[in-house]
Amino acid sequence: MKRSTGLDRSITSKWRPATQAVRAGTWRSEQGETSEALFLNSGYTYDDAETVAARFAGEQTGMVYSRFQNPTVQMLEERIAMMEGAEACRTQASGMAAMTTALLCQLSAGDHIVTGRAAFGSCRWIVDNVFPRFGIEKTVVDARDNAAWEAAIRPNTKVFFFETPANPTLDVVDLEFVCGLARSKGIKTVVDNAFATAALQQPMEFGADIVAYSATKLMEGQGRVLLGAVCGSAEFINDVLMPFQRNTGPIAAPFNAWVVMKGLETLPLRAEKQSDNAMQVARFLEGRVPRVAYPGLESFPQHALSVKQMTGFGNMLSFDVRGGRAQAFAALNALELVDISNNLGDSKSLACHPASTTHNNMGAEGRAEAGVGEGMIRLNVGLEDPLDVIEDLDQALRKAGI
Ligand SMILES: *Cc1c(COP(=O)(O)O)cnc(C)c1O
Repeated sequence: MKRSTGLDRSITSKWRPATQAVRAGTWRSEQGETSEALFLNSGYTYDDAETVAARFAGEQTGMVYSRFQNPTVQMLEERIAMMEGAEACRTQASGMAAMTTALLCQLSAGDHIVTGRAAFGSCRWIVDNVFPRFGIEKTVVDARDNAAWEAAIRPNTKVFFFETPANPTLDVVDLEFVCGLARSKGIKTVVDNAFATAALQQPMEFGADIVAYSATKLMEGQGRVLLGAVCGSAEFINDVLMPFQRNTGPIAAPFNAWVVMKGLETLPLRAEKQSDNAMQVARFLEGRVPRVAYPGLESFPQHALSVKQMTGFGNMLSFDVRGGRAQAFAALNALELVDISNNLGDSKSLACHPASTTHNNMGAEGRAEAGVGEGMIRLNVGLEDPLDVIEDLDQALRKAGI
């Protein structure tokens, strides 16, 4: 292994976030490549039988099998951990593999989980449909309401699980209060930080135990591959998550890890620029539709809290049109630049109707509880010139009679 500072925490921890995004985790093979190498291998060879025995016994570090670890994947995990300010990180095949692993590795039959009402559809689905089959009880709360978290605690509560800002309502959770409450009761917090990413919000600074990601979104940033990540203490990642993950196998593919690692190099730049673009689009929409949810707007009910815990407000917003599903569809169908897509975090601007797509499987009752209306449109603001996005929205809304 050639000289490389990316894995030496006494050096990388002194770097500022933009430097970590480009360099943390990098190590070089004897070829001295500048860009991180892509190791497309499942297995490893050893100089002698003693070496592999020592590695399996945990007496020697080193690769044994790509379900356990892979050099490219390891570089990405170290980079994410450094950007997050976490002791350790492990990646998974998708954001949902990350969420499922982060929760199931620490929950057992008889445990209780408290979760936010607004969430990515599949996050709600596993809590509502998978966990009950294994005897894990749940309480769903309005995550904006601090008192609701407190009231939901039972003697068997093990985990608080929430997104902030949440999909698609942009509900913001008071990280300091909710994580502090959990800690005082011995409850672990699992925070889905996909919308903000470490570039805009670091939940661990406010007391979060575990931060879980769909890296498919803003971290990857250009709509190419799926990937997930879980960050936490070395004890949690190595002793609780890893035994579960290495034996159940929801691991990240090296190629996908490599793509996300290259995406991270531009994450701080993209997050800042797309936040600025989203702010401009939100201001335009504010004068045009009955409700715009964007944490950067002064009119957003949780604006002060967002300012406290975020350094930028992200590229996601949602808004309502008065005419329900028909008018929302008419506006989406009239778009010329912005694509109709349920993906997000992309450099291309994308719009979708959550009630009929991402949040369809919650049912009408679940959507009402989560605050997802029939007239809601969710917008991923990309890297295009924001004036072009605004002009496109303007003409589409006009065609829809708005
Ligand atoms: C997309 C998303 C997920 C799921 O991630 P995948 O990579 O699609 O599996 C989870 N949480 C949030 C907030 C998301 O936006």
